[in-house]
Formats: sequence, C-alpha cells, structure tokens
Amino acid sequence: IFDEFTIKSLIRPVPGFPKEGVTFRDITPLYQSPRAMRMVADSLIQRYVESPITHIGAIDARGFLLGAVLAYELNKPLILFRKAGKLPADCLREAYSTEYGEAHIEVHRDSLSEGDQVLLLDDLIATGGTFLAAARLVTQLGAEVYEAAAIIDLPDLGGSRLIQDAGIATFTLCAFE
Ligand code: 5GP
Repeated sequence: IFDEFTIKSLIRPVPGFPKEGVTFRDITPLYQSPRAMRMVADSLIQRYVESPITHIGAIDARGFLLGAVLAYELNKPLILFRKAGKLPADCLREAYSTEYGEAHIEVHRDSLSEGDQVLLLDDLIATGGTFLAAARLVTQLGAEVYEAAAIIDLPDLGGSRLIQDAGIATFTLCAFE
C-alpha cells in the first residue's frame, strides 16, 4: 500500500544546494529504503501495467534507476535520455533551461519510431524544462509521450502545469509546496 507520508519523510531537504536560495530535494534516503522503493515501484507498475505504453523513456540520471525497474517489471524497452555527450551513436539533441542554467539532452536517433507510446520517467519535476525537452525529442522521432511521471512535484516552480499546458499528462507520487 502506498504511504505518502513515509515516502515524503525519506526525501531530505538540503538548503543551499547546488546554490544559495535553492532547497534541493535529496532522494537518496528513499533509494536506501527497500520498503519505500517497493512502494514507489509498485504504484507506478500498477498505474501502467494495463496502459498502452510501448517504451520506458528514462531521464539522466536519477530517472534511470526507476526506469530500469519499470522496464524490467513491465517488460518494455528502456530508452535513455542523456545529458549531452554521453550517448555514443547518432543522436537528436534539445536545449533546455533548468533552475540552475542551460543544458542539453540527447537520445539515440534509432531508439523510437512512429506509433511508439513513451512513458517518460524522472525523479522530480521542477521547472519542467527537462521533461519538455525529452518530449520534444520523442515527438521529433515520430513517437508520442503517453505520460510524464516522477516521484516528486515542486508545484510552486510551475513545471507540471507547463507540461500539462503542452498537452502532456503528468503523474507524481508526492509534492513539496
Ligand atoms: P526541471 O527541468 O523540471 O527544472 O528539473 C528537473 C530535473 O532536475 C530532474 O532531472 C531532476 O533530477 C533535477 N532536479 C532539479 N531540482 C531537483 C531537486 O531538488 N531534487 C532532485 N532530486 N532533482 C532535482
């Protein structure tokens, strides 16, 4: 059974990281709890087990951890959306800005094609820039984003709203105001 209180208690606020004025939501305590991780994974598995998704699109780097678990359990191909310069073969690239500055995200050009329904996964939605950039890559490859899912939403930063305004459904397991 999903217990939001337990999940939230395992997300540690770190004031001043990575810079002054930002409180980083550290999920390493959550990953250190097998019981909590099972709750998180099971909630997502239940949500998507009968969905039409064809691929798991996991976002560098904390999205990879959850992405691998879901891809295994749902028996779907795992597609990596990586920070620039990490993927070796032919890539598509998109720029985006985060709370902290400008960045680029890449995906292998041959990883998705028309008709694919991708579940995008990350640990957290802040400004939404990362998910939106990944979604643009999915679209450029002719595929569709089924939903953008994360463990945490920071609604005050407006990202989940922005993603929804772009016509992409979002799903998060908890929020910090
Ligand atoms: P966005 O693009 O929505 O502004 O930022 C989300 C991305 O930045 C995610 O990939 C996430 O891992 C990372 N991120 C930004 N802020 C935080 C935070 O406070 N905690 C964690 N765990 N990740 C964050």
